[in-house]
Amino acid sequence: MKIDGQCHCGLVTFEAEIDPEWVSICHCTDCQTLTGSPYRVTVICAGEAIRLTGKSPKIYAKPGDNGLIRFQHFCPECGSPLFTSGENGGPEDWGIRWGSIRQRDQLQPQRQIWCRSAAPWINDLKALPGLATE
Ligand SMILES: [Zn+2]
Ligand SMILES: [Zn+2]
Repeated sequence: MKIDGQCHCGLVTFEAEIDPEWVSICHCTDCQTLTGSPYRVTVICAGEAIRLTGKSPKIYAKPGDNGLIRFQHFCPECGSPLFTSGENGGPEDWGIRWGSIRQRDQLQPQRQIWCRSAAPWINDLKALPGLATE
């Protein structure tokens, strides 16, 4: 599936070829801190499948628990998280943040990891009073 997307301010833009089966949720504490949200939704793909079509993102590097460095790509202007990548370079090495993808309404998560650290209220959202807009 062909997708495209951008950061919030539009400085960083991209196109990619992805498999919709590879959309996943991560509940790990790093993802919570990096996104400011209870979990992160990512489409996993190979680095070659992504083509940057705008300005380059800024890259932040930090070793994960397994000792391998993970790179976090974000817009230098608006700070939107866009991609993650690692040192491996394998077919599942890159991740595209779901919220940056224009076709995200067609991309539903197929699996979730790090459920151990999931926010305890994550399955109770249906019980909250809700409005269609703010
Ligand atoms: Zn931006
Ligand atoms: Zn995570």
